[in-house]
Order: sequence, then structure tokens, then C-alpha cells
Amino acid sequence: MKEIVFATNNKHKLEEIRHLAGDHFVIKSLAEIGCYDDIPETADTLQGNALIKARYIKNKFGLDCFADDTGLEVDALGGRPGVFSARYAGDGHDFMANMVKLLDELNGITNRTARFRTVIVLITGDKEYFFEGHVNGTIISEMRGAKGFGYDPVFVPDGYDTTFAQMSLAEKNTISHRAIAAGKLALFLKQTFD
Ligand code: IMP
Repeated sequence: MKEIVFATNNKHKLEEIRHLAGDHFVIKSLAEIGCYDDIPETADTLQGNALIKARYIKNKFGLDCFADDTGLEVDALGGRPGVFSARYAGDGHDFMANMVKLLDELNGITNRTARFRTVIVLITGDKEYFFEGHVNGTIISEMRGAKGFGYDPVFVPDGYDTTFAQMSLAEKNTISHRAIAAGKLALFLKQTFD
């Protein structure tokens, strides 16, 4: 069975991609290959950071692998926080502080359009492939809902009147940026290796 490493230890992301890829692949986490390194994410694009992580695993362990990176791109802020979404309000990766900073920056601004974008880089053999998913929406001016993580309480996807944080995980997973990118990767894996 084809084995492939997902350069993450995030249980939710692993579960999601394992579910999408079906049972014809073994998808291993970093811990499962004995990698506990703190891989630096020093690029200034989502694609660049995903590439760094995937190449790190390929170079060090010689294994086929994929890595992802996600950002929230707010139009009125010229695409910020983008690749810096996790550390927008500082290195603490504090979801609440990040949202408070975002709402402050957008205070009084009427253009609230934004999108979540995920890039996945797959390295198999000596080839690199890219998969992208995005979901357009609006940043509302207060936080609503308690589910999810990150910027979910302030993001209302187009066509809905609830935030991501008010949706069940199953509902979010049918439209989310990450699910779209992961779905494209899963399809590619099935077509290539199944
Ligand atoms: P990562 O690349 O998946 O670690 O995402 C980077 C950052 O983007 C996270 O720390 C969150 O702040 C934000 N983010 C990513 N995905 C989501 C999401 O589905 N909802 C809300 N925020 C997200």
C-alpha cells in the first residue's frame, strides 16, 4: 500500500485527509516517522512555507510527503494577515488576540471581503505538485459562535448567514478552503496510485 507522510501532527487535519483519501493509502504523521523537529516556516507565501515543510521531510527522510499552509486574506488590508495569520498579534499564536487585532484594523472600514486560502504541496519521487482551495466570505464586526478555531467566529462564508464557528464541523468541511485543497490532493493520489 502506498505510504505518504503528511508534514503535520494536527489530529484534525490527519483525520480529514485520511477520510478523503480512503483506505488505499497509509498517511503517516510526523510523529509516526519519528520526526519531532521544529520545521521553520520562514517564507513569505503560503506556497513557500508548504514547500519548505515538504522538502524538509523529503530531504531528511527520503519519503514521499505533503505539507499545507493556510492564511486569511482580507482585501481591505491588502491580503493581510495572509501567511502571517497564526502570528498576526504576536508569536503567542493566540486566536482571540488575532481576532481582536483584525476587528480593530477593520473598524470603520466597509469593505469586509476576505478569503481563507490553503495551499498543499505534494512531493512524490522527484516531482512537486500544488493543490489550492479557497472560500470567499466576509469579516463581520463581532465574534459569533464557539466551534472551530482561529478566525472562525468572525468569518461568514458567501451564501451563508452563520460564521464558521456556528457551523458543525461536518458542514464546515463540505465548503472549507482546506477541504477543497485536500479533496484535490486525494483525487490526485487516487488517480495516480490507486
Ligand atoms: P495553518 O497553516 O493551518 O496552521 O493555519 C494558519 C493559521 O490560519 C491558523 O493559526 C489560524 O489562525 C488560521 N486558520 C487556518 N485555517 C483556519 C480555519 O479553518 N478557520 C479559522 N482560521 C483558520
